[in-house]
Amino acid sequence: MPLVSETPSGTAPGPRSEAQARYGPPAEAALEVPDPAPSTWTYTVSVRSLCEFTAKRGDLDRRFTPAATALEGLQGQSIVASRRSLDYETEVALETVCGPLRVRGRADGYDPRRRCLEEVKTIRGQPEDIPENRRHLHWAQLQTYGALFCRERRVEELALALVYFDIASQTESEMFQVFGAAELEDALLQRCAAFEHWAEQEAAHRQARDPALRALGFPPGDFRLGQRSLAEAAYRALAGGSSLLAQAPTGIGKTIGTLFPALRAMGEKGLDRIAYLTCKGTAQGPALEALAQLRQGMPRQPSSTGRPDRRLRVLAIVAKEQACEYPDKACHGQSCPLARGFYDRLPAARSQAVAEGWLDAAAQRRIAREHSLCPYYLGQELVRWCDVLVGDVNHAFDAVALLWGLSQSLQWRLGLLVDEAHNLVERARQMYSATLSTAQLQRMATIAPAGLRTHFTRLLRELEEVAPPSGQAHAALEDLPDALALALQNLGAALADHFQGEPLATGALLDFHFHVQHLLKLADTLGSHSLLDVTREAQALSAADTRDEALTRLPLPPGEDLCLNVRNVVPAPFLRPRWAALHGTVLFSATLSPQDYQANLLGLPEDTAWLDVPPVFPAEHLRVQVAERLSTRYAHRSRSLQALTQVLTQQFDAHPGNYLAFFSSHDYLQQTCALLAQQRPDIPQWRQERTMDPPARRAFLERFKPEGRGIGFAVLGGVFAEGVDLPGSRLIGAFVATLGLPPVSPVQEALRQRLDQLFGPDHGYADLVPAMQKVVQAAGRVLRTPEDRGWLWLLDDRYRRAEVRRLLPGWWQFDPDATSAPP
Ligand code: SF4
Repeated sequence: MPLVSETPSGTAPGPRSEAQARYGPPAEAALEVPDPAPSTWTYTVSVRSLCEFTAKRGDLDRRFTPAATALEGLQGQSIVASRRSLDYETEVALETVCGPLRVRGRADGYDPRRRCLEEVKTIRGQPEDIPENRRHLHWAQLQTYGALFCRERRVEELALALVYFDIASQTESEMFQVFGAAELEDALLQRCAAFEHWAEQEAAHRQARDPALRALGFPPGDFRLGQRSLAEAAYRALAGGSSLLAQAPTGIGKTIGTLFPALRAMGEKGLDRIAYLTCKGTAQGPALEALAQLRQGMPRQPSSTGRPDRRLRVLAIVAKEQACEYPDKACHGQSCPLARGFYDRLPAARSQAVAEGWLDAAAQRRIAREHSLCPYYLGQELVRWCDVLVGDVNHAFDAVALLWGLSQSLQWRLGLLVDEAHNLVERARQMYSATLSTAQLQRMATIAPAGLRTHFTRLLRELEEVAPPSGQAHAALEDLPDALALALQNLGAALADHFQGEPLATGALLDFHFHVQHLLKLADTLGSHSLLDVTREAQALSAADTRDEALTRLPLPPGEDLCLNVRNVVPAPFLRPRWAALHGTVLFSATLSPQDYQANLLGLPEDTAWLDVPPVFPAEHLRVQVAERLSTRYAHRSRSLQALTQVLTQQFDAHPGNYLAFFSSHDYLQQTCALLAQQRPDIPQWRQERTMDPPARRAFLERFKPEGRGIGFAVLGGVFAEGVDLPGSRLIGAFVATLGLPPVSPVQEALRQRLDQLFGPDHGYADLVPAMQKVVQAAGRVLRTPEDRGWLWLLDDRYRRAEVRRLLPGWWQFDPDATSAPP
């Protein structure tokens, strides 16, 4: 479609179309606002959604384009508005009824002097670099706003201006045309007609879904002990629009115990979406299993339209790396066959997907194949049309989070469940941290155009200026020194300029450009929530990367690398707006204590409720024993290794069976394995390796056979310390050596000092709290069902200290008869 419509303005209406007859006002009063047509259903749709649905055509095109961030978009609108006259209207709210559709949105501005409705798109670069199909979409949106405006203000002619505002040069490019109201009206009616079939199906789905959810029963079998109180509290939070931190022990069925009330709240309070997000991918399988079970229990209600879509739609949000069928290609029609004509084939695939309703990774892939579409981007489209979304926490919390963006723009009432929420502090810290190393800079300089080399070289020199003194590995910075900040900004600007002229670009340099932009944004928002430092690290540069001598003549010792680090310590300032925008939130885990740690670091709302569900099994089923005369401090490890091994063998001899033994590092683990193998070769042992692929992990767990005997060695906080389910005789006990405290280092000390400054001393936020969460998680492997019985050995004298005991579950009963290390 051309950028400017060639239809003459003010065209007199022709014979009334079918669309006009159904959606439009009566023929004799073409500009009258019509009453809603008699209908058994209504559907509200935003202008943006209506146009995305009806006006997107052609190829998927995810090449670099001169896009601005959401924040820059707001800034751009505000700058453009400030340049207009005093009577310029901003954020013009518009709404109309077209048959069963209620269409609403906000046009960016109206200039009464020019009688011109404006849509401002903030960009970086030239409008000509925006793909044609995206410009077509922008015009469709503006014309739809124009139609709504003509209806509301009863004007017969309206000027429309699509304004592209370049945030870098602060210049505007305007595409301007005058339209007759009848022409805009006709386009609106056609869009509504094209959307009606889908809207009717969506309304019918919702009309069937909500009563079915209200009638949803808990799956066969009573609530387990503790599960009911969790479900009731989760319901209160999600129905009432508040937040809940729920600590609940393993074995009570937290997944279904939170999903069930979430679905009931959805049905009763009309929530638009439920998102079940996990901090580790392994937890998504159980969530899908629970949803499948609940979905089975939903009645299949007859459809008034005869279409098959009646039950809950569930979608697994799959990562691009897992979904992509052509990892060697770029995401645009000239490179990837699954991107070519994507939007032309999307409607049929979308209809099939929502009719099926159960959209795990395999179903998405199958449907995508049937329609020759990219499965990843098909999944991204389907997020808009599914009821329950299962994915990773980054979809709600990182800087460019998909669900956050959609819920804001589509005004969803979104209920959120976060599983394994004890990991969220660390995950969120990673989302708002970034590192730039000399190795990265050198590597990228070798593939960057020659004209950019000076910017790399200058930044490398400035990094060297702030290097820690010789012999030291860490230098804290209060702020970015001016020269370093300037060199970083110049490199970022040079990369942005380069890519503005290279809209087809893909690859490592483009990824690096986004990385630099992320770092620049974090550097711009530095505050007490983050640390800034430079560290010396072992160099990760390969020989092939160092062929450019000009870039390797830095005065760094051989094999050494410098890293500039922004380290987020308190993610609360970044997450607060997310909590505020959610309808309701439930964060749950077996290890969330202390409550204030989560509330303070995550910035949870003041009125967040706290629930601590008691254990489901008798406390005496777990015999907790402390080796009180054994020190696993780093300096004492070699001396205490013999005594530690003796605890393992004595326990094993007294109660033969399968055990897990957790250690704070691979080195410590290997030393113990070696000594045990030497002293007791008859005890079968197997251990976690530094890297293990999924089959290796499965093999490790398969060693825990029912009624088996042996010791599996694993790392505290590692993949076998969480989410591992070995019920009954598959596991009868665990040993936890050390407290799991982080190693002493300048970075750790800086973290501790910052948390002390912010929250006061002696809270243990930097070390003891996260360490005890790891210990309790590891210990949680022992009892998995109310029938299980087992032993837990805590191997360190510090476990008798009050400040440590207060962070351990109150129901643990320490065995007074066995709290000493063996002689
Ligand atoms: S299949 Fe891969 S390369 Fe092709 S569009 Fe999808 S994600 Fe991009």
